[in-house]
Amino acid sequence: MGKHAKTAGWTTPAVESLRVTATGPIAGFEPSSTPGFEGGKDSGAALLTERGAVLADLQELLYANGRAGDRRSVLLVLQGMDTAGKGGIVRHVGGLVDPQGLTIQGFGKPTPVELSHDFLWRVHRALPPGGRIGIFDRSHYEDVLPVRVHDLVPKSEWEKRYEVINQFERDLVASGTTIIKCAMVVSKSEQKARLTERLERPDKYWKYDPGDIDERGFWDDYLEAYQAIFDRCDSSHAPWFLIPADRKWFARLAICELLINALERLDLEWPKADFDVEAEKKRVAALED
Ligand code: AMP
Ligand code: MG
Repeated sequence: MGKHAKTAGWTTPAVESLRVTATGPIAGFEPSSTPGFEGGKDSGAALLTERGAVLADLQELLYANGRAGDRRSVLLVLQGMDTAGKGGIVRHVGGLVDPQGLTIQGFGKPTPVELSHDFLWRVHRALPPGGRIGIFDRSHYEDVLPVRVHDLVPKSEWEKRYEVINQFERDLVASGTTIIKCAMVVSKSEQKARLTERLERPDKYWKYDPGDIDERGFWDDYLEAYQAIFDRCDSSHAPWFLIPADRKWFARLAICELLINALERLDLEWPKADFDVEAEKKRVAALED
């Protein structure tokens, strides 16, 4: 371990090594790989603690600027097959920062009310306000994933959604939101192991959904649907990243790095005091103990 611990680290930044344009097609992507990262679980977990502190500072800076009126925000979109670990990212990466600064929204099967509106209706309502990091556990991409795989709406309709999504994301970026889209890729064998565990532990039953087994039967169709979103909805302003998800420690570290990168690019500074600091110091000094 000693040898690895010393050399552990990124040889290529996550923002480059995990971008879909660098990883190649999802069908050939290795879910237990660690693209751009040298090191194992122990060194990766140690690095996450270190980088988590950096992320927390940057998040506070974003929040402070939001309080001062800055409208900018960051949106992390999480997609992935069942058991890929989206919830784990919310808990373990979201958990690295002040929860006040997060807006977390999951997207399940649309309710009758949601279905009565345009597919982006529920998404608009869930966008992070200025100063926040929003996390989407599933997203508008569901409307071209299960919806496409099962033709939940006619093909003529879901076909149009790619361009609608592109336009929506362009507008979002123009209004000050930095978008990071992560597709977590779990292998079939690891999914089986995780499903097995859910049935062996009463504290995991709540995570088990018999329908997940049916969806697994459409694995290749899902890969095709995922590839379509990368081919049609990846851009420099709203990039897609492939996150190998068989090793949870790596998925967490990678997404933490992507968030740090997004926040650093905002080039934020602490907001200036909107009061006379020297005058206030005198007033506080004059207070009775
Ligand atoms: P979970 O994330 O485990 O709570 O599961 C949510 C379920 O809702 C998954 O099976 C998703 O595929 C499904 N879902 C989410 N959004 C949509 C959508 N727009 N159309 C159809 N199914 C969806
Ligand atoms: Mg589920």
